[in-house]
Amino acid sequence: MITLSIQKCCNCSKPFSYKEIFCSIWGGYRAIECNYCKTKHFIDTSNKIVFGLFLFPFFFYKGSYRIVVIVLWISLISSMSPFFVKYKIDKK
Ligand SMILES: [Zn+2]
Repeated sequence: MITLSIQKCCNCSKPFSYKEIFCSIWGGYRAIECNYCKTKHFIDTSNKIVFGLFLFPFFFYKGSYRIVVIVLWISLISSMSPFFVKYKIDKK
């Protein structure tokens, strides 16, 4: 289930910032530590697969303006990503 909301801390319910989540995703899915209670949150494995699926088709896209389409798409996905990625405390 995809919901368009910024993730909150699973422990103390303080929301993470857009920037924190953005940096986590593009820093190789780093764990996020809550600023308030210091609980570490790990990205849900299924989210990594979703990102892969979003980006995958463009390796095969051979149409006109290929580079423009890819750059626009990646910008769109990356600016939206903090709203639909999910973190959890459990590392599994
Ligand atoms: Zn917290």
